[in-house]
Amino acid sequence: MSKSVRNLVLVLGDQLNADSSAFDGFDPVCDAVWMAEVREESEHVWSSQPRTALFLAAMRHFRDERRAAGYALHYMELGQPANTGTLAGELARAVAELRPARLVMTEPGDWRVWRALEESAEGLGLVLEVRPDRHFFASLEEFRIHALGRKQLRLEYFYRELRRRHRVLLDSSGGPEGGEWNYDQDNREGFPKAGPGILPAPAAFPPDETTREVLALVARTLAGHPGRLEAFDWPVTAADAHRALVDFIEHRLPFFGRHQDAMWSGEPWLYHSRLAAALNLKLLDPRDVVSAAEAAYRAGCAPLASVEGFIRQILGWREYIRGVYWLRMPEYAEVNALGAHGALPGFYWTGDTEMACLREAIGQTLALGYAHHIQRLMVTGLYTLMLGVEPKRVHEWYLAVYVDAVEWVELPNVIGMSQHADGGFLASKPYVATGKYIQRMSNHCAGCRFDPAKAAGEDACPFTTLYWDFLERHEARLAANPRMALQVKNLARLDAGARQAIRERAASIRANDGSPPRLPEGTRQTSFFT
Ligand code: FAD
Ligand code: SF4
Repeated sequence: MSKSVRNLVLVLGDQLNADSSAFDGFDPVCDAVWMAEVREESEHVWSSQPRTALFLAAMRHFRDERRAAGYALHYMELGQPANTGTLAGELARAVAELRPARLVMTEPGDWRVWRALEESAEGLGLVLEVRPDRHFFASLEEFRIHALGRKQLRLEYFYRELRRRHRVLLDSSGGPEGGEWNYDQDNREGFPKAGPGILPAPAAFPPDETTREVLALVARTLAGHPGRLEAFDWPVTAADAHRALVDFIEHRLPFFGRHQDAMWSGEPWLYHSRLAAALNLKLLDPRDVVSAAEAAYRAGCAPLASVEGFIRQILGWREYIRGVYWLRMPEYAEVNALGAHGALPGFYWTGDTEMACLREAIGQTLALGYAHHIQRLMVTGLYTLMLGVEPKRVHEWYLAVYVDAVEWVELPNVIGMSQHADGGFLASKPYVATGKYIQRMSNHCAGCRFDPAKAAGEDACPFTTLYWDFLERHEARLAANPRMALQVKNLARLDAGARQAIRERAASIRANDGSPPRLPEGTRQTSFFT
């Protein structure tokens, strides 16, 4: 039997940072590291192939780097016959072999995993020391203090607090740079009719040998899982993640803000950073990201509205969302304030729909593991909200399909921001709109058989139908929300006949797995990604 170790440091797939708190005081002579690839993590939701591949590829690169640095690192690969398939099973095996005096880890990003590891440690009769996650600007305790006594939370107050505390984008008097805290009103432009023009292609990271092995393994062992692997080019090391950051700051940050909400067929990245996955796996430090963006502004390379808009996503939304998750879990996963109980339409797993905007967003999601924020909020999320899909089913889809999906960030975005299932705790109103919003922000409607201006009839846009139907179904609740007053007032202008036609059309969409009846075979269209 090998000699026993002092601390066994547990490293999960989203904790790939050798400077994390779990490694404080690490002594390669008497401590060891444990990592495991387990099927359970790809199956508790139907995890897409690109998502699982990203996690495994990044884990293996981290393993190799740490071993090269002299760490004793115990690693179980997914394809190994002895693999029990669960974190608990693999931890028990490592403990039997290594006989550690103590288990140490940094706060996990998933309530379920934290509880499972606590229970495992208890069952094994070991102390599990969970250390604070320094990756974030705000600790969980700081967020709890911020939330104390507030009935509703709002991003803006927390964001300002963090800007001040961390001295980000402040002028010499300590006020916000440029006089305003928030330049969102400058950040809502679509593209002209001719389109976005030539876009700067983001830096690509073609798979090396380690990643290629993972891609083959995932294709083999998770063959029935959604998503495709041919286009996989995500950064899987800290060095590559840093290169991706530099590339974004130089080439796309200057235009990020202005076109943040725009969508265009066949253009998945536009001016977005593609950094969420690297951040969430901890390959990238958000402080480096925020300072690189601020430095670009100070050097005159990017306008303030873009830089503030980008920093607000990282220092604001990302931190705020995490605080809400840990404040409200585990009951947050179960909330359903709007009483939605519908099933997720089957086309969410295939992209096979006549609705051009959904076909594009879902097609791209399955091919790349990526869609940008407005596609997630105002296309796929908007549709399930207005259709009345059960929030938990929506959450499971989002957690499964995106390469950047880790529960602490995915769940509040879906449950709170997108599906309004928390009744307004996270966001003050439901994000609902007709197809005209999508028409304004994209070119999708031009290639769609539906008409965004119509709410009823054979060619009515399902978003527009479901928008009025949503307002009607929740009229009493929405009328009490001052931010929805105008929308509810417009509903009152619809006469009884129009309401009835909308109701009937919405019912037929629901009865047909979330889609209007199809055009005859042969007229189907494909997206750029299918
Ligand atoms: P950019 O558009 O370049 O934005 C910059 C960065 O800001 C992102 O990389 C991300 O780290 C951060 N950010 C932006 N918006 C948010 C937000 N609302 N919450 C937290 N961080 C934010 N983000 C995830 O990281 N994982 C998820 O699983 C996830 N699920 C989402 C589900 C829904 C329904 C919605 C509406 C949003 C979700 N987001 C999620 C937030 C956001 O859509 C993604 O972070 C972003 O699209 C990732 O692409 P990007 O890196 O190019 O981001
Ligand atoms: Fe989407 Fe409606 Fe526009 Fe078609 S018409 S692309 S369904 S918003």
